[in-house]
Amino acid sequence: MPRYTFICQDCQKSVQLFISYAEYDTAVPTCPLCGSQQLKRRIGRIGIAKSEEARMDSLLDENALAGLDEDDPKAMGRFMRKMSQEMGEDLGDEFGEVVDRLESGESPESIEQSMPELAEGGGLGE
Ligand SMILES: [Zn+2]
Repeated sequence: MPRYTFICQDCQKSVQLFISYAEYDTAVPTCPLCGSQQLKRRIGRIGIAKSEEARMDSLLDENALAGLDEDDPKAMGRFMRKMSQEMGEDLGDEFGEVVDRLESGESPESIEQSMPELAEGGGLGE
């Protein structure tokens, strides 16, 4: 039997009542604490949408960062490209080249070795 949460308008307590679907339309919910029938259905959290900003944050956290496999150059490349697109900045030819090479499956180590100026600058992502 489904359980519903009500707020009693008289004693201001939150009460839970079991009401079957068949009864729901005709049932008069009664406060088990004070006997009042002035109960208001409390809507659960489910219907409350996150703000767009929070949704973007959670997308980044859960899907991009948590799902990032640092041993997978292609995933690294996709991640770096996505980040640069979201920042909306042109991070330069070197960055673009690194991303291209990561996405083609080249390891970060070999890219650094072939681009000494990159290694001197602190390496990838450091
Ligand atoms: Zn009550």
